[in-house]
Amino acid sequence: MSSSTNRYKVVLLGEGRVGKTSILLRYTRGEYNDKQVSTLQASYLDKGVRLNGEEVVLSIWDTAGQERFHALGPIYYRDADGALLVYDITDQSSFEKVRTWIKELRKIVGPNIHLTIAGNKADLEKHRAVSMAEAQSLADSVNAVHVLTSAKTDKNLSEVFTKLAMKMVSSRVGKRGSLVGSGSGPDRQTNRLVIVDEPPPQTKSKCC
Ligand code: GDP
Ligand code: MG
Repeated sequence: MSSSTNRYKVVLLGEGRVGKTSILLRYTRGEYNDKQVSTLQASYLDKGVRLNGEEVVLSIWDTAGQERFHALGPIYYRDADGALLVYDITDQSSFEKVRTWIKELRKIVGPNIHLTIAGNKADLEKHRAVSMAEAQSLADSVNAVHVLTSAKTDKNLSEVFTKLAMKMVSSRVGKRGSLVGSGSGPDRQTNRLVIVDEPPPQTKSKCC
């Protein structure tokens, strides 16, 4: 799957009830339901993302609840380009498990997988149990971006997946041997990804 040029496999990881399926349904279909989260019929859903005029497709994999038994099979992880680690900001134990998921992920997929951490249920700020400082410190220690999200209010979902997509695209472009020099990669100010496919034309020597 991830061998196709513009397709990237992203796995959702985190304890049960943190909001993984809600994030996926909100992001890919614009749906959210407080009372009952639909069961997914598929292992993954696709979402097209435009980065600097280029369309990439994220195939976002969700579990069928097996995370409760810590029994995600190798097929779930296989060929993953990136992972979104989700915890619930009102549940400290869901945050502590993030480290365990990252260890398992790196053991199976390898150390180069791109990580993003989502502190979900940000709409429940007044019940927050996990401080921003500890979340940021974990994210820094594993070279991940940390973003507060809410599937309920649609806060930062597009941002979190776009950030992950930018990391994955830059690294694949790098691996293909194209130029990823200064001026390429995610541009913080414009939030655009500049991909340099060809070296600039050689300037003619002015020498005699
Ligand atoms: P999963 O087990 O990780 O897939 O979690 P679900 O998506 O099934 O969500 C578990 C519960 O949390 C459901 O009742 C959701 O409605 C609720 N939930 C998910 N995301 C949010 C959110 O951003 N805010 C709030 N307040 N509730 C959420
Ligand atoms: Mg689920």
